[in-house]
Amino acid sequence: MKGFNFDDLKQVDRTRLGKEVPLELFRAIRLIGMREGLPLEGKGTTASIGRKIGESLPVSTEEELLDLFAELKIGLPRVTHREERLIKIVVDDCFCKGLPVLEEKKVCDLEGAIIEGALGRIMNRKVSVRETKCNVCGDEHCEYEVRWYD
Ligand SMILES: [Zn+2]
Repeated sequence: MKGFNFDDLKQVDRTRLGKEVPLELFRAIRLIGMREGLPLEGKGTTASIGRKIGESLPVSTEEELLDLFAELKIGLPRVTHREERLIKIVVDDCFCKGLPVLEEKKVCDLEGAIIEGALGRIMNRKVSVRETKCNVCGDEHCEYEVRWYD
């Protein structure tokens, strides 16, 4: 299948509207299209989509990945904890910040799967990412636990 790589996506030739789209469009795709439009709130599909996006990102280190996350305005990630096979990543200003709180709902699974796909490729290991906090369920920020195996 012929498709687009990340460099293709950066080629924008819109003379009047430029390269930005409003956050509510991204939110509509994520939270209405993917969460409501797919079976099981998009669970398995979202994970596959996120991993595929993550694998395609033009990054070769953890630092480059976190920088790109900020550059793409998904959120501002920072590592808050690091041990042998675990890191915790807090995301400030996540795309979900400011949405009404829905108790018990975490909505940033796609973004976690992007981290999973990218770090899995960078580290050449099986990486698993769990979403542990989210603004939408009333937490102070979004947070992921990243674990890896040999
Ligand atoms: Zn979030």
